[in-house]
Amino acid sequence: MVAPPLPPTGVFTYPGDTNIQDIVLLPDGSHLLAVFRIGSVNLWSVLVYGWIEIVATVAVGILVVALLRLLHRRRVIGQPHCRRCNYLLVNLGADVCPECGIELTSRNRVVGRPRRLRVAVTVGLLVAVFAGYATGYRRLARQGSVSTWCQWLSPGLYDYALRHRQSWLLDHKSWRCRVVEIDLADGSVTRTLVSRDGIWPGPLVLHPDGRSFFFSQGDVITHHDLANGRRLGAFRLDESSPRRLHRLTVDAPGETVYAMTMDNVVWAWHLADGTRERVLDVVDLTGGRERQFRFLRLIPYHDRLICQEQPTGSIGVNPQLLDSTVWDLTTRTPVGSLGPIASSFLMSSGGRWLVGPRGSPPVFDVWDLETRTLRETIRPSWGQGPGVSRRFMLGADNRFVVLPGPAANELHLWDLDTSTWAGVCAAPVTSWMRARLETDGSRLVAVAKTLAGPTITDKIVTWDISTLLRDRDPAEPLPP
Ligand SMILES: [Zn+2]
Repeated sequence: MVAPPLPPTGVFTYPGDTNIQDIVLLPDGSHLLAVFRIGSVNLWSVLVYGWIEIVATVAVGILVVALLRLLHRRRVIGQPHCRRCNYLLVNLGADVCPECGIELTSRNRVVGRPRRLRVAVTVGLLVAVFAGYATGYRRLARQGSVSTWCQWLSPGLYDYALRHRQSWLLDHKSWRCRVVEIDLADGSVTRTLVSRDGIWPGPLVLHPDGRSFFFSQGDVITHHDLANGRRLGAFRLDESSPRRLHRLTVDAPGETVYAMTMDNVVWAWHLADGTRERVLDVVDLTGGRERQFRFLRLIPYHDRLICQEQPTGSIGVNPQLLDSTVWDLTTRTPVGSLGPIASSFLMSSGGRWLVGPRGSPPVFDVWDLETRTLRETIRPSWGQGPGVSRRFMLGADNRFVVLPGPAANELHLWDLDTSTWAGVCAAPVTSWMRARLETDGSRLVAVAKTLAGPTITDKIVTWDISTLLRDRDPAEPLPP
């Protein structure tokens, strides 16, 4: 019997142009942390872009006010007038203006002068401003380093510009990055724990004790208390050239954070005393031998990494299988070899399994990272479906491997305990980004994209997979 695909218990979308970069399930079983990148218009950049119009408008305003005053305040040449009300002050005995009552000090008496020249000069300046704008508004620079001096972001204006196709406003796009807590029951954002502007966010990692988390953004990692979002510490790369951190994990006791830069340098940040050290880089890993490409991946919640080397002579990122070695980051020595694995492999969230595709149509090898042995090979019968070719692996925890099915809107769960297909989850989406499973195996959460016309919407989809497992007859393997 083939079980029908399990429908989702929730499909959640978020207002505006919100990218969901990463998700982490929280130990309470009812919330997750998500990294949102919210599309926004940088108002400062818009102001800088409009500097010519702003200067011209201010100049015209000042000149028009001056001209109106000149034309309205006719004065008799050579005669004193009240500064406030322009009353002609002749034949007066008192020191007070009879019209408005102001005390007539010498400052408050103005003598009428010929104004034809002043009117002509003001009109001439107005003409000069219009002529200058007409010739200069296309030639003067409108954007430069000044445009990025300040991040003054408006997600609301970005939404407006997107809806009304104001592409000139969309050119001033920047991002607001947020770490938010989401209630899995209804998808609502219950708290915003971190909010920062502009910089590209990296991964999110939960501390093993479940009470704090690490968030990397640009060249900075911050450590936050989960209860109140308070910052507990920060690690910043202090090298001269700006480098982005793009991989992050913490060891099993939660004492050392490992971070890797885009150019494959691994750093350790010791939380107890705040010290840091440069652990190793690719030259250490290859003993100085010339190699063209190396792929490094930190094993989640372990003091270990996987180094893959592409043989000399091959060009570009090679889809072939690469020699893979596990290194210990505390001793900085190799601990053993994993055999040839594609660089697009995936690890389980606790760092226990490695799942790697092989061949075409692909089969999936499941390696035990502790013993470095091949545990089993998952052989999907559907071959090269649309989901398989686009993004063939999504997520793995200690028990399940989640793979996209033959239909783009399906996820297939492989049960590592029984070495059988556990079931199929489906949702109305166009493609899958990543999947996470609750540690007790009761819930699957995935990030997906839906394409409707030119609009791409990110979604969070949840399923209660405990029902799927309960309904299934364990003696009867589910045909994929
Ligand atoms: Zn007066």
